[in-house]
Amino acid sequence: MRLTKVKQALFGTAAFLAAAAGFLAPSFPAVAAENDMKAMFNLHYNGQGWSDFGKDNTYVQAAAGTYVTGLKATLEGQPSGMSGTIAYQVNLSGSGWLGWEENYAQTGTTTTAMPLEAVKFKLTGQLGENYDIYYSVLQSGTWTDLVMNGQTAGIEDHGLRVDGLRLAVTKKGAGAPEDPPMPAVRTVDPTKPMVALTFDDGPSASTARIINSLEANGGRATFFMVGNRIEKYPSAVKRMVETGSEPASHTWAHTTLTKMSYGDMSASLDQVDNAVMSIAGVKTKLVRPPGGTLNDGAKANLAKKGVPSILWSIDTLDWKTKNPQSTIDAVLNNVKDGDIILMHDLYSQTADAAEVIIPELTKRGYQLVTVSELASYRGGMQAGQSYSNFRP
Ligand code: ZN
Repeated sequence: MRLTKVKQALFGTAAFLAAAAGFLAPSFPAVAAENDMKAMFNLHYNGQGWSDFGKDNTYVQAAAGTYVTGLKATLEGQPSGMSGTIAYQVNLSGSGWLGWEENYAQTGTTTTAMPLEAVKFKLTGQLGENYDIYYSVLQSGTWTDLVMNGQTAGIEDHGLRVDGLRLAVTKKGAGAPEDPPMPAVRTVDPTKPMVALTFDDGPSASTARIINSLEANGGRATFFMVGNRIEKYPSAVKRMVETGSEPASHTWAHTTLTKMSYGDMSASLDQVDNAVMSIAGVKTKLVRPPGGTLNDGAKANLAKKGVPSILWSIDTLDWKTKNPQSTIDAVLNNVKDGDIILMHDLYSQTADAAEVIIPELTKRGYQLVTVSELASYRGGMQAGQSYSNFRP
């Protein structure tokens, strides 16, 4: 490790001196690259804006009803002292191939509805001598074969649009990366009933069981997590996101919002966001006030911060009874289309109840959606506003 760092440092100096002396930087054969360099990217979806960061070698695709109009890509873990960057070119419907862009500059369009039809990626400079870049696009419901290093992914001039991207960097000559797991296909029928299960105060050792039950039943939920618990259960947080559930914020330390200044509240939410981002690569968009306590001041602070707060329409009192049957009854005897249901994934008894509630609601025809999904079909949300249900 230390040796490599020294080598890289020396190499950087050599390249610098060569450049300073007016020579082309010599083409060094592979500096042993210990860093695991990875690609990261954002897609611009028509009508929706930029996606969260797509991670190296994952399938990232537009939701139903939209498609990709632009992209920007960058690298993380680029070995120090190695020249070059990531470059990319897109074929924009109606315009053809645009010029090459690189290093997180955006390409395509963010102002018109024209879709991308095809893409090319390459690594430049010494990065290109040490790494390969592989990619594939989703087109007409199918991921195209992986291509690499400047080849074209996607079919041009046939009116086919790009709906998703997979992008991966590998060591030179290491071969194509393994296929990542396919994202679950999400189909929500807006004309049918839906409810949002929400779990507060976790994550905990019981969170994984709830996620398993959701996954087995094609459902999703929203987890309002206490930030300082997140690092203890990284795999639960990762799986939550991978299976389509929504990570959300319950402040860093379960602090009542009405007792926090704007600065303290903002810092607390940022801290949660950073923890979720470092584990799962996404940001939270919703806050549940600890204790459900809100006042005008807290709402004004949340408005300034740009987030809505989410209350509930069914309180199971699971934390109080710790009785699975009582939690099950509270949900199944009262549930209506558009409800937001409050539970706590801190307790094994709640996981016991969830393992009954999730399949039963599904059997009754309820679509188990995240709060953001529910809101998107029922009028949306505004920062600073508080919501306790999204009835039709
Ligand atoms: Zn709480």
